[in-house]
Amino acid sequence: MRARYRRTTALAAVLLSTALGAAACAGGSSGRAASPRPSAASAEPSPSASPSNDPAAVKANELGVVPVLMYHQFVAQPKGVYDQTPAQLKAELTRLYRQGYRTITAAAFVSGTIDVPAGKSPMVLTFDDATVSQYGELPDGSVDPTSGLGILLAVGKANGEEHPVATFYVNEEPFAGRDSYLKKLHDLGMEIGDHTLTHANLKRLNDTQVQAEIAKDLTFIRRSVPGIDVTTFALPLGIHPVNKGLAAKGRFGTTSYSFAGVMLVGAGPAPSPYSLRFKPLAVPRLLSGHDKSEYFAATYWLNRIGTTRYISDGDPDRISFPKAAADKLSPRFASQARPY
Ligand SMILES: [Zn+2]
Repeated sequence: MRARYRRTTALAAVLLSTALGAAACAGGSSGRAASPRPSAASAEPSPSASPSNDPAAVKANELGVVPVLMYHQFVAQPKGVYDQTPAQLKAELTRLYRQGYRTITAAAFVSGTIDVPAGKSPMVLTFDDATVSQYGELPDGSVDPTSGLGILLAVGKANGEEHPVATFYVNEEPFAGRDSYLKKLHDLGMEIGDHTLTHANLKRLNDTQVQAEIAKDLTFIRRSVPGIDVTTFALPLGIHPVNKGLAAKGRFGTTSYSFAGVMLVGAGPAPSPYSLRFKPLAVPRLLSGHDKSEYFAATYWLNRIGTTRYISDGDPDRISFPKAAADKLSPRFASQARPY
């Protein structure tokens, strides 16, 4: 059962308790295959109850494409092709919000639990490698507003999204050895995903080594965030192991893993999880970087998504789309379909 879109005040409580050094787990055990959005028992009425929530009125197209963006570092002087300045991140996020995008986690995306208001479009923001510029804290334990997450939270709030979410694909010694940050991120409603223990090039490893890399990272994450459900994996360097299936499912020692989603590096927007084209174990990502001419592929694609993008009907239990797009629907979702 999928939760309807709701605004809550639970995150404020989590933020406060985090700042006090007594963070409570906001994840809960809802059975959803995601790091769920923090939620409260007393939610406001769902927008889907509004008479204006007519799929045609908002041009809903839940078979449209979704941008999954990949970020690495935010530094004043970018070096790597995937680095950005903090100002570039702010500008890119501002553009996305103003165009009607709202955040969901990778876990929510691959499991088809897309919960954004009517007329808005989902976007998945993924941060790879747990670099120090992605998340930092002030001395009182609050989010450093100059870090990547600090920028996202501010831009989201300024554009009407009270609780933005993102997915962090982490290796050992995240955020320069600040393992405790993983639980903080989880408590803030962020998803933590597997990215192998040592950021290995999986193609160079044998089957046992591949599974060890993935399972040991999973063990590390679980030790850092007790009770966490890790459901997505990002391939380091976007490179598959020789035995491709081991990226999604395997076992090392007593640790087994079975991911609902595997993220690639590049290229192009991802198909809707309700469409026939969707491949959860090969989710393409847009590459954000500082060089707009050559490597700023996110901008290239965002300029071209246009009318092909996913637009929500505001009701997470129904899948709305124009009748003309009906042949794109995966039969798995036929019972929820609402063509118009
Ligand atoms: Zn990486």
